[in-house]
Amino acid sequence: MELFDSALLARQHGDETRSKELLTEALGMETSAADSVAGEYLLEPTRSVLHRSAAAIALQIGDAKTARRYLESALAGSPPLEILKELRGLDDQITRLERKSRIPGRSGRRRSPDMTPTKMIIDRFKQKPPVNIVGLAEALGIHVQETDLGSEFAGEIFRDTDSSSGYSIWVNASDATVRKRFTVAHDIGHYLLHRDRFTDRLKDDHMYRSSLSNQLEQAANRLAADLLMPANLIRELRAQGINSPEEMAASFGVSLQAMQLRLGIGKGRKR
Ligand SMILES: [Zn+2]
Repeated sequence: MELFDSALLARQHGDETRSKELLTEALGMETSAADSVAGEYLLEPTRSVLHRSAAAIALQIGDAKTARRYLESALAGSPPLEILKELRGLDDQITRLERKSRIPGRSGRRRSPDMTPTKMIIDRFKQKPPVNIVGLAEALGIHVQETDLGSEFAGEIFRDTDSSSGYSIWVNASDATVRKRFTVAHDIGHYLLHRDRFTDRLKDDHMYRSSLSNQLEQAANRLAADLLMPANLIRELRAQGINSPEEMAASFGVSLQAMQLRLGIGKGRKR
């Protein structure tokens, strides 16, 4: 980041040309560093830190498009809460820059009226399987933690002033990975659809039954299935010749039963 500091110094001294040169050089270095770890989703916080730097420098140069690209890539990982807060700050600044540079009379592609912020965040995570479901929860401001919930419960969502959405999710640490992923998705479903329907916390057992009605539970299950197995990605897998429920389940990181339900085959109730 020395180049970045020198660039800001040059700017302070009124040498805008030199500042821009240094920033462009810094951007080249930071973007290639970020690109080199783009697929390393487990390499946190390094991955999100490098992407954040690239986005921040692009923002300084006034390159909203590059800034947006690296911000989105950072959010597609699992940034720690501290970095996530910084990314949100960057998001606001990039949005302001996008508004300023928008051609009058043409509406921006990303901010069309039917695209709510939540849908925009969700769409970012539907790029390739398996969907990073914990990353999605964190991008929505929901903190996810694995913990011991005994043998009866799969997970719970509760009000938590420490998380930016005001909600956190606990997942049973003893469950299998596919089950944990489904639980997180199910609780994101409760957050999006039902957070005005419970007071402090909502606990789900392993059949995804809670104090809410079966109808509401089924709605959370359907949304969970949409999040984990998006229709666009099912189509993409089919286009690649991946058709069997077993292969698809493996690609999406879900149980075979969940995959079969999503594809409308079999009648298994278990996830
Ligand atoms: Zn539930």
